[in-house]
Amino acid sequence: MTQITQLRESLEALGLAQMASLLQSRLEAAAHNNATYPEFLWDLVEAETAARRERYLKARTRLAHLPFYKTLDQFDFSFQPSIDERQIRELATLRFAHDASNVILQGPPGVGKSHLAVALGIQAIQQGMGVYFITAADMVADLRKAWAENRLERRMRVYTAPKVLIVDEMGYLPLDETGATIFFQLVSMRYEKSSIILTSNKSYGDWGTVFGDAILATAILDRLLHHSTTVNIRGESYRLKDKKRAGFFSTSLVRQEVSQPPK
Ligand code: ADP
Ligand code: MG
Repeated sequence: MTQITQLRESLEALGLAQMASLLQSRLEAAAHNNATYPEFLWDLVEAETAARRERYLKARTRLAHLPFYKTLDQFDFSFQPSIDERQIRELATLRFAHDASNVILQGPPGVGKSHLAVALGIQAIQQGMGVYFITAADMVADLRKAWAENRLERRMRVYTAPKVLIVDEMGYLPLDETGATIFFQLVSMRYEKSSIILTSNKSYGDWGTVFGDAILATAILDRLLHHSTTVNIRGESYRLKDKKRAGFFSTSLVRQEVSQPPK
């Protein structure tokens, strides 16, 4: 067995798979470039570190259940002037998540709420945080089932453990008493411990209707908003912009449908 083969096998045994597989080519490159010993070693160690980080990010991204993969760079701020780009860039530093503060993205359909929530989630994953994405309806249905089966407490951990929980589409479906109580419990458990990014088409004034109970809605909002940033998006649906351009809708119809600012 040559020394290089032995070295490769030892690297593999140590779990340094990337270093093992690149050893031969990087040795040749180092000889060719007259690299110093530290340069050669650094080059190899860097490759291992990069491969690990990528694997880790992939696993974290899978666990987050994002509905799509869209970053902040893919967001066209010029299309949605009601959004303060600086505010979003500040959120993207994830200071809010370190402070266990919440983000509420409010606005009509298609204005980019889910896109921004996912983009912030990706940013959080890259900072090594646990992230979980779910729609409000799915989460409440899941927890309601757990409650009926007497395992609510254990199931709740799925939604309390991630540093950043993204709850999408709050308010599309009104919640009944059990659903609202479960949601209240969740918000209370995460309060001042970890962050919620919440998207909603409803303004706070309508939350009483969403939760079917004004007092419960107030209690939820009280905890949710105590440490929070609200991003209020007014504008047209990005989904409809191409259709509109193609004359698919009459302008007045599109205006009526999508550009009513949240009350
Ligand atoms: P909402 O959650 O507010 O209903 P989405 O975030 O799902 O809207 O946006 C609808 C679609 O339009 C998505 O594919 C999203 O990526 C895209 N989109 C929305 N706003 C923008 C924007 N300003 N720049 C680029 N893509 C956008
Ligand atoms: Mg959405």
